[in-house]
Amino acid sequence: MGNPGEPRGKGHVHRCRGGVRDGRGRDSPRGNRPAFRAVTPRAHPVRAARVSEALLLWFRTAGREMEWRRTRDPYRIWISEVMLQQTRVSTVVAYYRRFLEKFPDVFSLARAPLDEVLSAWEGLGYYSRARNLHRAAARIVNLHAGNLPSTVPELSELPGVGRSTAGAIAAIAFGRDVPILDANARRVVARLFGVEGDLRAAGAETVLWERSGWLVRKGKGRDTALAVMDLGATICLPRAPRCGVCPVRKFCSAFRKGLQERIPPRRPGKCVPHFDVVVGLIRNGNEELYLRRRPPEGLLGGLWAFPGGKMAPGETPDAALGRILREKLGIRVVIQRKVGAVRHAYTHFRITLHGYLCVAEGGDLPAGEDGGWLPAGRKGGYAMPRADRKLIELLRFQGEGS
Ligand code: SF4
Repeated sequence: MGNPGEPRGKGHVHRCRGGVRDGRGRDSPRGNRPAFRAVTPRAHPVRAARVSEALLLWFRTAGREMEWRRTRDPYRIWISEVMLQQTRVSTVVAYYRRFLEKFPDVFSLARAPLDEVLSAWEGLGYYSRARNLHRAAARIVNLHAGNLPSTVPELSELPGVGRSTAGAIAAIAFGRDVPILDANARRVVARLFGVEGDLRAAGAETVLWERSGWLVRKGKGRDTALAVMDLGATICLPRAPRCGVCPVRKFCSAFRKGLQERIPPRRPGKCVPHFDVVVGLIRNGNEELYLRRRPPEGLLGGLWAFPGGKMAPGETPDAALGRILREKLGIRVVIQRKVGAVRHAYTHFRITLHGYLCVAEGGDLPAGEDGGWLPAGRKGGYAMPRADRKLIELLRFQGEGS
């Protein structure tokens, strides 16, 4: 997918989804968000115990059924927690099954080539998670004899495992009485205990972890973690929380004060930059397409993509493609035709990817570990960005695909 992570300065357009303006009508990057404050400083662990009782009672009958909740295998729970970090449950289910079929234990994951791990992850996004899983598996095999560590400090040392994921694994897989603070838990805890203002402000994190810890009953770490997650996912929703059916509303500070829609405060709308990216689907005499492996770190790190990059302002796509391939690969190409354009949204920007079928003329394409030909008819084995994969589908649809 070219290289959208490195803007050329002027080569992009900002399309705003609605900015934030201050009282004088000027754009304000952060809006007028107040610093955080815990409005219920008298909140006390004893009171939190009653919240937990009600929460756990509710969880017994209302807890969600999920495949990874039927196992106590720490490896499987770890995989599920990492997949769930940025992705919806409904999307994760199929990936979870496929991934575990391919890598049923930590040893198989550790010895697999990174390409295979990325390939199994393809489409799930946030590929640093897959790279970190792979690195962490090697660490677990080498330092822990293949056993996932069970404490939060040890788990936190694994690549890609932050404090909340470590807490979730320790609680769910090992039954430890530790708190979690994922996005759902953060919202639930802030509302329950009336933590107002910017939850990313200095000090807010400490308060939220403390309050989350108050909810953990002795011997109930697993169920508390799952119950908080489920409450946040099904009732204490980001918008329009369902307070009318909430099992803990009589204890909830936000509900009592009518602040449930204002805690946490909405983030200001952001300007989402848009980039036009052009790539070459360079084809050889065997109907194979040339791919480059992206650098191991950063956006889409380690994935195989068509060579290309961002268009400069005023540049036509074919001129941009010629320039970029000359600069990056030292080759000249003859463009045969446009395959199509696909749009794709990443977390912080969007792209339109323009794909051109072409042949190389003059200069050899770099081969080896970071460049190669996608054999005719081969669908797997190369983990590719979704947008590049769509171009291949377009080519196939046009009756010319490899
Ligand atoms: S009462 Fe409303 S705001 Fe409070 S925890 Fe329940 S759903 Fe969330």
